Amino acid sequence: MGIKVAKFGGSSVADALQIGKLRKIVEADENIKYVIVSAPGKRFADDSKITDLLYLCKTHIEHKIPYEQIFQVIYDRFTAVEADLGIDAGIRGELGVIKEEIEKGASVDYIASRGEYLNAKIIAEYLGFAFVDAKDIVRFSDRGKFLEEVTDDSINRVLPSVDKAVIPGFYGERLDGSIKTFSRGGSDITGSIIARAVGAEVYENWTDVSGFLRADPRIVDDPKPIKSISYMELRELSYMGASVLHEDAIYPAKVADIPINIRNTNRPEDAGTMITAQPQADPDQVVSGIAGKKGFTVIGIYKNHLAGEKGFIRRLAGIMEDNDITIEHLPTGIDTMSVVLDNKMINGKLDEIVEEMQSQLKPDTLEVVEDIALIATVGAGMAARKGTSATLFGALAKEGVNIRMIDQGSSEMNIIVGVEEKDFETAIKAIYNAFAE
Ligand code: ASP
Repeated sequence: MGIKVAKFGGSSVADALQIGKLRKIVEADENIKYVIVSAPGKRFADDSKITDLLYLCKTHIEHKIPYEQIFQVIYDRFTAVEADLGIDAGIRGELGVIKEEIEKGASVDYIASRGEYLNAKIIAEYLGFAFVDAKDIVRFSDRGKFLEEVTDDSINRVLPSVDKAVIPGFYGERLDGSIKTFSRGGSDITGSIIARAVGAEVYENWTDVSGFLRADPRIVDDPKPIKSISYMELRELSYMGASVLHEDAIYPAKVADIPINIRNTNRPEDAGTMITAQPQADPDQVVSGIAGKKGFTVIGIYKNHLAGEKGFIRRLAGIMEDNDITIEHLPTGIDTMSVVLDNKMINGKLDEIVEEMQSQLKPDTLEVVEDIALIATVGAGMAARKGTSATLFGALAKEGVNIRMIDQGSSEMNIIVGVEEKDFETAIKAIYNAFAE
């Protein structure tokens, strides 16, 4: 077995209890060589994430409001973890340095990154691993662009000299020496970058759920976990709102063909979800997952001989571009076409858009249906299986759900249906049950 890179998210490193679970996981698997950690997250529903508190310190300073009380909360949390774990990672001294830097006007990225920095110091000490600062291996240009090759070179220069290491996620360093963070949730990206650079056999991403579920548990009772899913299928599901992993974390692992295993720190016995480059043939899994979003508008266009009209789509796309709107879907018939738009993009401009469509496209009829929900049924196994769409549409018909739009990607990996928002939950349940093996 090759090297494993394991990233632990905020809730997995929120306090000494969670860090104890992390140690058990890491000690049980000698292949885990590099551990990437987030800042401490929430310990309970109403709790604060350390990163949020750090941002709050900066906002207070910018508005010239005393920040010391918030800093004290951060101070207390870190020193309590250190004491609870019974170690001395020099956290008091570190916090003193950070406070001095803040007083001197440290940047927002520097301040925000300190949650990961301090947590990695503590966890490295607790595990007896080396601490490797992300600023020494994750590099950005002076303008903040992530530098892939420089980062790979730095990783391969620094990491071989340590046996096992804990590395803070979320940030790196610009060439000018200043700290730069990724976007929120960015420790996932750090893990993926390191996994690729060291050619890891697997990138384990430890969180507080046992992987992806086939449907939203707030809608479907006790949905089955997804055992394995390809990057492409996952992209479809994430686009529709299913999220566990930072989107940008997929790319580095995907190009290097490194599987990502989503695992649950609180239930390490669960296998979690394996995300792989190629879909794994699983005869039991026709549909990998179902995800959906509300808040769309469908504009249906009918025009006699539309099929023979040149430049129609270009003119339609031009109207959307002029209004700064991206088209979500464009299912077409012979003389009909539906444009599916995100309400957030329309942003109160629906009447103007419809007027422009009337005058520039001269349709025979134009029908607007607002409050549409889109539901994607995703599964690499669907292409090979006959009758998938019949099962899906049959299930919706049986529940009396009116389908306002259908779009099937050319890969046959997904079927997207548009239904009225009031039917959203019923439709998801019906599809889930129709494919539940
Ligand atoms: N701590 C950072 C955040 O809360 C990054 C991360 O946890 O991935 O966004």
